[in-house]
Amino acid sequence: MLEATELIGKTTAIDNSFLPLTLRPLAQLSWNYWWSWSVDGTSVFRDLDPDVWETCEHNPRQLLTRTAEYRLMQMATDSVYIERVRKLSDSFLQYMARPLSSQVGSNKKIGPEHPVAYFCAEFGVHNSLPLYSGGLGVLAGDHLKSASDLRLPLVAVGLLYRFGYFRQRLRRDGWQEEHYGETYPEQLPIHRIMGEDGTPLMIDVSMRERTVRAQVWRADIGHVPLYLLDTNITENENIDRLVTGHLYGGDRETRIVQEMLLGIGGVRLLRRLKLEPSVFHLNEGHSAFLTLELARELIQTGLRFTEAARRVRERCVFTTHTPIAAGNDEFDADLVARAFGPTHDQELGLTREEFVALGRVDPKDSKEPYGLTPLAIRMCRSTNGVSRKHGQVSRALWQKLWPEKTVDGVPITHVTNGVHAPTWVAPLLRSLYESYVGDDWSDQTCDQGRWQQGIAKISDEELWTAHSLLKQRLIAFIRHRSFHARRERGESIQYTESARKMFEPEALTIGFARRIAGYKRWSLLLRDPERLLTIISSASRPVQFVFAGKAHPQDQGAKLILQQVAQWKNDARIQARAVFLQDYDQEIARQLVQSVDVWLNVPRRPLEASGTSGEKVAMNGGLNLSVLDGWWLEGYDGTNGFAIGSSAEGAEAGDVDASDAESLYRVLEQEVVPLYYERGSDGLPRKWIAMMKRSIVTLVPEFNSDRMVEEYARRIYS
Ligand SMILES: *Cc1c(COP(=O)(O)O)cnc(C)c1O
Repeated sequence: MLEATELIGKTTAIDNSFLPLTLRPLAQLSWNYWWSWSVDGTSVFRDLDPDVWETCEHNPRQLLTRTAEYRLMQMATDSVYIERVRKLSDSFLQYMARPLSSQVGSNKKIGPEHPVAYFCAEFGVHNSLPLYSGGLGVLAGDHLKSASDLRLPLVAVGLLYRFGYFRQRLRRDGWQEEHYGETYPEQLPIHRIMGEDGTPLMIDVSMRERTVRAQVWRADIGHVPLYLLDTNITENENIDRLVTGHLYGGDRETRIVQEMLLGIGGVRLLRRLKLEPSVFHLNEGHSAFLTLELARELIQTGLRFTEAARRVRERCVFTTHTPIAAGNDEFDADLVARAFGPTHDQELGLTREEFVALGRVDPKDSKEPYGLTPLAIRMCRSTNGVSRKHGQVSRALWQKLWPEKTVDGVPITHVTNGVHAPTWVAPLLRSLYESYVGDDWSDQTCDQGRWQQGIAKISDEELWTAHSLLKQRLIAFIRHRSFHARRERGESIQYTESARKMFEPEALTIGFARRIAGYKRWSLLLRDPERLLTIISSASRPVQFVFAGKAHPQDQGAKLILQQVAQWKNDARIQARAVFLQDYDQEIARQLVQSVDVWLNVPRRPLEASGTSGEKVAMNGGLNLSVLDGWWLEGYDGTNGFAIGSSAEGAEAGDVDASDAESLYRVLEQEVVPLYYERGSDGLPRKWIAMMKRSIVTLVPEFNSDRMVEEYARRIYS
């Protein structure tokens, strides 16, 4: 933890006195998400009481308070369990004792007093902290974990949503319903931050001509504190209490005030914590208003706006995640001006017109909406996309901000996304990596030589046995979830019971889990249902599909696609070989990426900025079958997975959906299925296993988040 934050950001005291002596280390562990990526962390908590663990959604604070006294005493007197707790606690203390370093990426400017301040509207750290909707949040969570592992001084700022993102439930007719459960901060492993006077610290931001107050919570992610602003306090008017109500819900105005709270409130919070960040990292444009708050601070010391903006730019960097103009946050300029109130432009020494022009590509075009991406690009010294291709696409998309430059000359670079290996690698594979890559494998994820030598030593039998066991676990998970979902929906007894037997451990298993958004092209698979059915229902070479994903609540088209997939349950031929798991979240993602044989991705090029789920699959020995877009365009080398369609420029023209669908079916029929079922006399798919090894060796060292964070420290933060 950072010393500077210790001085003021005192938190409420930890009460662990209710725990038996031998279990008390669990209390301290439960307050820091380090346990979620440590070797025995999840299983130590789960084994305390597996039933409570499931009902409290893997929240260790809830587990400790809800486990019955008798069970606690049983475990508190079990010497094997006590030893596991002790070991886990020792590793945690050792991990936290290692000091933060300014050496990451040889960046001398960043230090414990001058950390990186990382702002994001969502954080997907763990399922028990429901503050994310999808890829952006999970990526931000992985960024924090790698920063902690690398000891890069970094603090994070986000919002604590009272209702978070919706939970998905399917009706019996396959139509998606949304449920918003309330999140109670007192039940989460987060502390309330106190001020100097011992009362909760409050941050004030003026919006809609009122002062709105936010209290502050802190979650600990290893060494990284994640501060969360929360307006749900009685002093606020009801409508203001809902500023941190829903993640990506609410109307346009709510979005603006949310983003004001994140950006402006976030900077004020860091000041109250006496932190002087060396860099502000805007992860996506939602936090772009922070640049205006930094400018306002400087203007109060007597600077004019242009000089203030120049200095702000020196300290701010921006990562864009969207490859299409419509995907960027845009608002009616009047709405923005109204939310900021009548004096804000004056405080910045700007006229109203100059103020709203900051969010326009063409400052003189008074009809243009206010965009957070133009604001962020203008106010940051560095802008980057999240894959090589996305860098290119962003240069073309935003070239209009540099009318005098050619597209190639536009100063937007890229840092390709990566994922946090200790979070996503299955325990069984972890042990293999420990044995063959080394005990310190997770600190050496970028060392290509080590991975090449290590993976070569794993025997085919060993790798295949581990993978097969994980697949059996996945099938048990699918049966369990499907059985309960069917029972809750009131399906027929026969159909509900059939869930207990569905899927075969030996069959080629393909995962397809992602948002049901247009460009993700769920419809591609359904283009020729008969052909797909033939592939799936082959008696000698069966294929089974696992689907998961949410449709946006307002997206009726997406809900219709989902319903179409859900209706397959009425077709006896597909029923046993295709399943939809409802309510895609990090837990389902983990089950899938650790166990499938093949991970399918069919975005419409070039709209997948990066994608990260396929990187998680590669770490676990699964093979990617994907359109050459985002990270896969960089990762695919012809020997480490399968490509759909072409990567040639211009391949985006014409009826790509038709040609990509044709390519998908053909690659499945002619490459994937035959390779998987080509067995030697010992039953092992030797060529398939060789490809799994190629995939691990070529992809892990490149597409992990240690490489990503190190690259940010070296190239972007310095
Ligand atoms: C990794 C992950 C994502 C991102 O997946 P892509 O579709 O590859 O962008 C989304 N949601 C969850 C829950 C994840 O774990």
